[in-house]
Amino acid sequence: MDKTRQFTKTISLKKYGINHDNFNYQLSADELHAVTLEKGLGVEASSGTLAINTGEFTGRSPKDRFIVKDAITKDKIWWGDINIPFDPDAFDKLHDKVISYLNEKELYVRDCYACADINYRMNIRVINEYPWSNMFAYNMFIRPTSEELKNFDPEWTVINAPGFMAVADVDGTRQHNFAILNFTKKIALIGGTGYTGEIKKGIFSALNFILPVQKNTLPMHCSANVGKDGDTAIFFGLSGTGKTTLSTDPTRKLIGDDEHGWNNENAVFNFEGGCYAKVINLSGENEPEIFGAIKKGAILENVVMDGEGEVDFSDISITQNTRVSYPLYHIENIKQPSIGHNPKNIFFLTADAFGVLPPISKLTPNQAAYHFISGYTAKVAGTEAGVVEPQPSFSACFGAPFMPLHPTEYAEMLSKKMKDAGVNVWLVNTGWTGGPYGVGTRMKLKYTRAMIHAALNGDLGSYSYDTYHIHSVFGVAQPRFCPGVPTEVLSPRTTWNDDEKYYKTAFKLSNAFRKNFEKFESYASEEIRRGGPQRYAF
Ligand code: ATP
Ligand code: MN
Repeated sequence: MDKTRQFTKTISLKKYGINHDNFNYQLSADELHAVTLEKGLGVEASSGTLAINTGEFTGRSPKDRFIVKDAITKDKIWWGDINIPFDPDAFDKLHDKVISYLNEKELYVRDCYACADINYRMNIRVINEYPWSNMFAYNMFIRPTSEELKNFDPEWTVINAPGFMAVADVDGTRQHNFAILNFTKKIALIGGTGYTGEIKKGIFSALNFILPVQKNTLPMHCSANVGKDGDTAIFFGLSGTGKTTLSTDPTRKLIGDDEHGWNNENAVFNFEGGCYAKVINLSGENEPEIFGAIKKGAILENVVMDGEGEVDFSDISITQNTRVSYPLYHIENIKQPSIGHNPKNIFFLTADAFGVLPPISKLTPNQAAYHFISGYTAKVAGTEAGVVEPQPSFSACFGAPFMPLHPTEYAEMLSKKMKDAGVNVWLVNTGWTGGPYGVGTRMKLKYTRAMIHAALNGDLGSYSYDTYHIHSVFGVAQPRFCPGVPTEVLSPRTTWNDDEKYYKTAFKLSNAFRKNFEKFESYASEEIRRGGPQRYAF
C-alpha cells in the first residue's frame, strides 16, 4: 500500500526496548483504515466505516485494572477493590515480557495529546500491536499539528498489546488480561484485551490522579456543551445514562462527551479529541448527529452487519456494548478549541430502572454533594424471562472505576467550585417511567431533551410552591410544568397509577441510598448527609 505519511519525521523506539524499525509512525486514519482491511483485521460497512471486533473483551475489565504501588502513589491512592495495588518489581518483569512480545511484531505508533487546555496538556505516545487500536487513538486523543509534532516530547506511554497473554501465577495479574498504571514510569500497560475503551480510560484514570494532586484541577467523568450565549452545561452520569446522547445537541456546541477538567481559571476543558458512543438501537431519526458521524474515519466495534454491509443496530448478539469512535470533527456543531467557561448548569444523569426518581428535579447544594458522592444509577435485570427486579448501582463521583483518590476529595473540589460559580444542579432520570423496568418504559428521549432545554433556558423558573413540588421521599424539587413535556410525565407517582406500589419501590431505592452512603458518613458533614432521601422504610 501507499505509505505516504502525513508526517515525515522519523523516531526510534530504542528507549522503550523495542529494537526493530518495523513500525508505522503517525499513519493517517485513512492509512490505518486501509491497513486494517488489508490485513483482514476488519471490514468496511456500507457507510464506508471501518468495523472491527475487539475480541474476547467487548467492555472494560475493572477487576484487572491495577495501579503500581510506589513512592508516588502509596499514600495518596484510595486502595481497595477499585484501585488494586500492583508490585513495582512485578510490573518491571511484566513490562519486559510485553516489550519482548512487541519486538516480534509490526507496530503502530502515534504521538498525541490529552487536554484541550494547553496549560494542562499531557503528551502521549501510543504503541499498538493492531492498526485499528492506533486509529482509535487517532480518533480519541487530541491530534497534534505537524508543526507541534516537530518538537514533540512524549511524556506518558500507552503500551497496548491485546495479543499478549499474562500468566496470572507468574505475572501477578488476576488472569491473562490487565491494564496497569505506573505513575513513576508514566506508562499505561495494557495486555490480553483488545477493548479500545481501556486505552482512553487508562489515560483518564492517570489524569484523575495527576490533575487534582499536581495541578489543583478537578477531573470529571462528564460530557459538556455550550449554548449560543456561551453558557456551559456539563452532564455527569455512569455508563448508559446519556452523557454522549444528550451532549450531542444540534442547538449547542459540543465540547466533549466523556472526560473533562474544571480548572481554577474558570474553564472546563475536554481531555479528548473524539467521542465514543454507544450504538445499541441507534437510529438516524432519534439521534441524527451521532448517526451521521458514522462514516469513513469512524470505527464501529462489535456490531453485526448483513451481506451488504448494512449495520443492524438492534443486533446485540456480540455484545450490548456496541460502540463507535469518531473524531470530534465528525460532529457539525462543535466548540473549538474544546474549552468552555464555568458551567451554569450541571446535570446528574441517572437511568433509574426502578422508575421512581422524577424525570427532572432541582437539587440544593447539599443534595448535589450527596448525589455526587452516591453516584446512583440502576442496572436492568438480566434478560431471563420473568426477572424484572432492577439492581441499584452506586459509583462515587459517577465514575468510581476511574478515580484513584478517595471520592470525597473530588466531591470537596466540586462543591467549592459549584458554590463559587453559582451553578444550578439538576438530577435527570433518563431511565424508566410508568413503573420499573419490565413494567414501565424508558423515558422518551424527546422529553428528556425538552426538560434539559427548559432547565438551560430558565423555563423551569426559580423555586416556589407554584413552580415546584418537594418529593416526599427523595426531598428533591420536582417542577410542576415543563414546556414540551406532558405534565403527568413530570410526576413519577402519577405515571405509575398505583400509589402503594410506587411508594414501596421508592422506599426500596431510598434504603439502597442510605445503605450505600454508610461508608461515606464519617467523611460527610451533617448538611451533606441531610441532602439524601428524606424518608426510608424500616
Ligand atoms: P458511557 O459512559 O458508557 O459512554 P453515556 O453516559 O455516554 O455512557 P450514552 O452513550 O449516551 O451513555 O447512552 C445512552 C443510551 O440510552 C443511548 O443508547 C440512548 O439512545 C438511550 N436512551 C434512551 N432513552 C434515553 C433518554 N431519555 N435519555 C438519554 N438516553 C436515552
Ligand atoms: Mn459516552
